[in-house]
Amino acid sequence: MQSTAEVAHGLREIAALLIFAGAPKFKVTAYARAADVVETVGEIGPLVEQERLSELEGIGPALSAQIRELWQTGRSELLERLRSEQPVGAAELVQLAGMTPRRIRLLHAALGIGSVEDLRAACLGERVRRVPGFGKKTEAQLLAACERWLERGPAQPVPVLLVQALERAAAIEQALLLEVERAHLVGALRRGEETVRELSFVVVGDAARALRRVSEQRQVLRADPETLTAQLSQGLSLELHETPSSAVGNALLAHTGNARHVARVQQRAHERGISLNLVGEDSARAARPAADSACFDSEAALYAALGLAFIPPELRTGQGELEQAEHADFSELVTLADVRGMVHCHTHYSDGKNSILEMAQAAHALGMSYITITDHSPSAHYANGLALDRLKEQWDEIAAAEEQVPIRILRGTESDILADGSLDFPDEILEQFEVVIASIHARHRMDREAMTRRLQRALALPVFKIWGHALGRILNHREPFECDVLAVLDTLAEAKGAIELNSDPHRLDLPPLWIPAARERGIPFVISVDAHSLSGFDVVRYGVTMARRGGVRKAEVLNTSDAATFAARVRPV
Ligand SMILES: [Zn+2]
Ligand SMILES: [Zn+2]
Repeated sequence: MQSTAEVAHGLREIAALLIFAGAPKFKVTAYARAADVVETVGEIGPLVEQERLSELEGIGPALSAQIRELWQTGRSELLERLRSEQPVGAAELVQLAGMTPRRIRLLHAALGIGSVEDLRAACLGERVRRVPGFGKKTEAQLLAACERWLERGPAQPVPVLLVQALERAAAIEQALLLEVERAHLVGALRRGEETVRELSFVVVGDAARALRRVSEQRQVLRADPETLTAQLSQGLSLELHETPSSAVGNALLAHTGNARHVARVQQRAHERGISLNLVGEDSARAARPAADSACFDSEAALYAALGLAFIPPELRTGQGELEQAEHADFSELVTLADVRGMVHCHTHYSDGKNSILEMAQAAHALGMSYITITDHSPSAHYANGLALDRLKEQWDEIAAAEEQVPIRILRGTESDILADGSLDFPDEILEQFEVVIASIHARHRMDREAMTRRLQRALALPVFKIWGHALGRILNHREPFECDVLAVLDTLAEAKGAIELNSDPHRLDLPPLWIPAARERGIPFVISVDAHSLSGFDVVRYGVTMARRGGVRKAEVLNTSDAATFAARVRPV
């Protein structure tokens, strides 16, 4: 199964290629619009499975079939055909920031531009600015996009999402263990980064034999005595670091990184007169200790020798974690086991796949004490948002379901933050919910000031709300909104709202880099699932990982408390 973002990307590429194929404008526009619609829906899967795509605005039978094909197979016959018929450059152009199908069409018609190279030359020749609809500023932006693209190179694949990389790593680990005694995941993936380009393992045993077993291409790119590298599919590379079991602690620490953390550990050892030979993750040299280096068979032993508590991999960024580890351990850092409620769940009342009762039973089976049902609000017509009559019906059904499961079911909403910053229900309705999540689903592209004002207005409303998938990013496909994040966090703190750490592996939003700023302001978190089906609960672990990367403690997460406490904390008024 593909992601919604990948489907949208495919549709956009079809739109761009249709331009070059000389297709009529309405057809090009239909594909480009379909990409927007699909992206706005958030999760297309349930609609595909229930054969309800044609309910979406502007999606006819042909588009439905395309979307289904893209979703189910990750490919499209039409797309493949267009790709084979058009010059290579056409598909590139659509990947440039700021290049819409309309712009591609205009530039192709006016200047015959058919590749990134063409476009760059036209920008440098100041010809783009003379095309109606383009100006000096746009020309400069496109030139910058071309330069970035050319620098990055067309061959550079997008990084792989955490969830996919972890699955891949688990399979590789199984295979490695057929050849070696021990295999431990290290690198950026162990640190829980949102996307990675590399899978890295420390192995005790014969790394070369193990590599031959797992590398599809059986091609070793670089070999030094301890480190072997191979190229896997999807643009991932694989590194194996061979180490004796007596020095596993050294190797794990050195290759989990990041480089700054490793350097600080190294420096601390030096200050304490301990000879410790570590080399950072980015180095080609291996972490096999020199003859006089102290060896540790575990990371815990290594940290302890330096007078430090064990530092969880997610925190190894060289940003003050060593200082913290001098005085305290990290036992208060939130863990998966701390989560007691599934927050942010959709049901078949909007764009979810399951009933209220099914969702509640599944949450109970996972040991949860509560669940919040937060279907979409009326403006989200693309996602079957609930108008008042259906809301009433849903509340009755929630009450009935609560009789049948021993957990609390909170009635809530995921209310759209509209373009003007108001919420998508009148106050007297909002007050009747037990939990309100406020999210942006449309009009993602506003200028920075307007977006900041929109968010501030919504988050300052007196009703208690949780700011949902805060910056609207879709990993590898949509950048976070342009807005003054710190100013918006100030507003949220003043309004005493909470912020969601959305666990959807395509979102992972609020991005962890902003979590410390939210913590400094005393803003509480919920680690939410944004589940659209029963299987949507599994993702909560990724939200926990992001929270840990931001240093979030259990006490800062509202859904680590019991049902009564949680309900009292999130009550809208
Ligand atoms: Zn949402
Ligand atoms: Zn949602």
